[in-house]
Amino acid sequence: MEGSILVVEDDPRTQRLLSTQLTARGYSVQVVDNANAAFSAVTNSPPDVILLDIGLPDIDGIETCRKLREWSSIPVILVTCLDSLQTKIRGLDMGADDYVTKPFQMSELLARIRSVTRRSAAASRSVPPVVEVGDLRIDLGKHRVTRGAEEIALTRMQFEMVKELALNADAVLTYEHLLQTIWGRGYDDIRAVHALLYHLRKRIEPDLSNPRYIKSVPGIGYTLRNGE
Ligand code: CA
Repeated sequence: MEGSILVVEDDPRTQRLLSTQLTARGYSVQVVDNANAAFSAVTNSPPDVILLDIGLPDIDGIETCRKLREWSSIPVILVTCLDSLQTKIRGLDMGADDYVTKPFQMSELLARIRSVTRRSAAASRSVPPVVEVGDLRIDLGKHRVTRGAEEIALTRMQFEMVKELALNADAVLTYEHLLQTIWGRGYDDIRAVHALLYHLRKRIEPDLSNPRYIKSVPGIGYTLRNGE
């Protein structure tokens, strides 16, 4: 399957055309004919790409795009029948990713769909999260840990440990999970986890006797969460 597409279009002929052609090329297609139905569809089953007609009966496509961008980053391709530069610029300013002008060639539309999908996949891969727990800030992209204004130097293993905890912030990670993730399969000495955790805490916790960031869950594992 190529992915899922939400077609927001009130013209039955264009609806049929897009639905038939995109389905034939392996996309799963959902069609709605107004902006409010589009908001529900995006909430209920978020598509990979939205094809958004500019002239809709309830809210125009550009305004729809602006509203959508307040809470969703799903790629939007505007479908306009006005070959107006002004409209295209407004659409892109409101957060649309691209546009096609009716009547369009199916091959052109497909190329644009592939291109926005690629871009959004690349963007979600290339923006590594920054996790903040109280004043502790773990920048996974830059391999950088700070507490307030203070830079904290960690060894590679200590960073691996805090990274795994940060990627799963608030979840309890078992000793086994940490062992397998950080040391790899075949390593079975749980004491290594406790020892590494001890040294990591020494670096990041202001008070070792009362850890603020990494909490112990006795008998189970550890969790990174905002201390009270
Ligand atoms: Ca229309």
